[in-house]
Amino acid sequence: MAKTNNILVVETVSELQAIIKKYKKEKKSIGFTPTLGALHEGHATLIRRSIKENDISVCSIFVNPTQFNESSDLKKYPRTFEADKKLLTKTGCDILFFPSNKEVYPKGSNYKIKVNLEGLDKRMEGAFRPGHFEGVVQVVHRLLEIVLPHKLYMGQKDFQQFTIIQKMIDKLKIKTDLVVCPIKREEDGLAMSSRNRRLPKSIRKKATILYKTLISIKNKLATESPEDLCQFALHKLNIEDFRPEYFIIIDGNTLKPIKSFKGVDYVVACTAVWAGEVRLIDNMVLKSKK
Ligand code: AMP
Repeated sequence: MAKTNNILVVETVSELQAIIKKYKKEKKSIGFTPTLGALHEGHATLIRRSIKENDISVCSIFVNPTQFNESSDLKKYPRTFEADKKLLTKTGCDILFFPSNKEVYPKGSNYKIKVNLEGLDKRMEGAFRPGHFEGVVQVVHRLLEIVLPHKLYMGQKDFQQFTIIQKMIDKLKIKTDLVVCPIKREEDGLAMSSRNRRLPKSIRKKATILYKTLISIKNKLATESPEDLCQFALHKLNIEDFRPEYFIIIDGNTLKPIKSFKGVDYVVACTAVWAGEVRLIDNMVLKSKK
């Protein structure tokens, strides 16, 4: 166990479990934010919310190999531990859990999770990144089993991801409440992402096209059909250096594409776009009762 300023860096499961057990005995509430590291202000908003709502806040940094469908993407994923530790210390996070692969997945154990996600994992990211959500479900389930938090903090930035994790929590009756935090954006509208730092300057400048497109779709909601809006968006996103993979308008509950806005009270536009060699995702709630 290493204490760095005010943050406790814990690398083993047994150590973390002992600490959590002690806090739980003292009736302290635990908030947990899982991340892949390369932290930015988007992550910080989740951690601040956790600090506000809990006695103890834990953030994990674990670049989970089982959720990367391409080994080159895993290799290129930015790793910035020292800067991350600084950001977490500044934010006021209590514990940084930084386990190795062996700690999370000890040899000989099987952490594959069987849960009926009712098709939520088949579309969008699921269609373009085979095996991705299997890995996400596996790692979040494993981390929840280790941390046993009262509250779990995730971002709306990964709309499909939090929807799937909520389904997993419901189906497996896990005693953790999921708290979803809004998307934190750069000043020009680009959703903050660890991957943004890999964008060359000229492409970074143009990457605001994702946000601009989502806004213009929201503005046209009253006058056009979902199908026409998707066509319009795909056209708008198809600029030099950019290649849209999908732009879909979905029912936010089922993640199924919708044909009409009538009768659907939770509507979300989701997109994935290649910006040079970097794959960006973004989304916007177009209609919501909540
Ligand atoms: P990641 O490290 O990319 O796996 O992200 C960890 C958590 O932070 C996930 O729940 C993300 O949805 C959330 N997150 C990432 N970027 C943002 C952002 N720009 N705004 C809000 N939450 C975010």
